[in-house]
Amino acid sequence: MADLPLIEADPEIAQCIADEEKRQHDKLRLIPSENYASRAVMEACGSVLNNKYSEGYAGRRYYEGQQNIDTVERLAIERLKSLFGVDHANVQPYSGSPANLAIYLAFCNAGDTIMGMGLPSGGHLTHGWKVSISGKYFNAIQYGVHRDDHLIDFDQVASLAREHKPKLIFCGATAYPRVIDFPKFAEIAKEVGAILVADIAHIAGLVAGGAHPSPVGHAPVISSTTHKTFRGPRGGMLLCDDAHKKAIDRAVFPGLQGGPHNGTTAGIAIAAKLASTNEFKAYAHAIVDNCRVLAETLLSRGLDLVTGGTDNHLILIDLTRKEVPGKVAAQALDRAGIVANYNSVPFDTRKPFDPSGVRLGTAAITSRGMGSDEMKRLGNWMADVIEDVENEAAMSRIAGEVKDLCDQFPAPGIPVH
Ligand SMILES: *Cc1c(COP(=O)(O)O)cnc(C)c1O
Repeated sequence: MADLPLIEADPEIAQCIADEEKRQHDKLRLIPSENYASRAVMEACGSVLNNKYSEGYAGRRYYEGQQNIDTVERLAIERLKSLFGVDHANVQPYSGSPANLAIYLAFCNAGDTIMGMGLPSGGHLTHGWKVSISGKYFNAIQYGVHRDDHLIDFDQVASLAREHKPKLIFCGATAYPRVIDFPKFAEIAKEVGAILVADIAHIAGLVAGGAHPSPVGHAPVISSTTHKTFRGPRGGMLLCDDAHKKAIDRAVFPGLQGGPHNGTTAGIAIAAKLASTNEFKAYAHAIVDNCRVLAETLLSRGLDLVTGGTDNHLILIDLTRKEVPGKVAAQALDRAGIVANYNSVPFDTRKPFDPSGVRLGTAAITSRGMGSDEMKRLGNWMADVIEDVENEAAMSRIAGEVKDLCDQFPAPGIPVH
């Protein structure tokens, strides 16, 4: 039984995977946290590395048989150090959320004061939002954006930091379409004696490719996922300077986790190697160029965008002035073959489960090699759908056109159907 191919061992799951391959091929995937992992990364994740237990760190493991795993983990670490220009990398966090939890464990005690951007402004749950452990076990102070231009309110960040003296300040976001000003955050953190943490989960690929300023030299601790714009496996990483290295490593293991996922570690090593190429630099810049063209097209069709546009891979459409809520728009777009997600906008007048915004990004479609012509077509399709969310005939016509476009741009790592 253990030696049967998937199609025989479990035809039901095999079918789900085949259907998902087809969906990922046939649709324009705009969820900004998603991408197509490179083929080599996918191979590593499905390899025998899955079978090995490796608690500890290279050269200091609690299990024998690490001849190959130590090499894999050292390669991942060395490549990330040189790619980002940092003193140290930990590649063991299971994903972005556990990476952030490890940071709390490394530098805080329960009840300590921490600061992060509020979820309604575009911050992540793990930056102190009340329903998350980060908001429950810590005294979490949340900053936000200006009401008028939706840019981060640095006067508020500074005054809250002076008043509450947090141990940690998180910067970085999950739904913020503009550049994060790391030097400005660093100045505030320094003034109040807080450790600045830059969470670059969304933008790690842009930072690696030089399409977003790097937090290195401003934030001594950096956390990230490895599967968003970085285009690696589902995973997490922590980058830091020498001064914070010991605390970070101890927090990840034995503080928070057991054995690392070695296939993922290999995937991170591969992603780091690929991200150091000129081709990846061009990819990172193309993500941003595409996003700007898409934003301009949407604006020209009369849609409002949070902050009025974008500097990165992400756009947040604000439908407050339109008749249609975000969820209805996202569902209509999905029927037209365009997959985005509904999202709150800053100062949203609607509830989080039925908000006013649609969030989208260009990382995955840029991985397929699409460019500005395709972005213009896409923007017009989206506007057509949003203007007429009950027109099922138009949606199925657009879904057909989307499929034809997708056939011209095969997705990395997916066999053509
Ligand atoms: C996606 C994200 C995370 C969490 O990553 P998971 O892998 O989903 O746990 C953390 N921080 C930010 C800013 C993110 O966007």
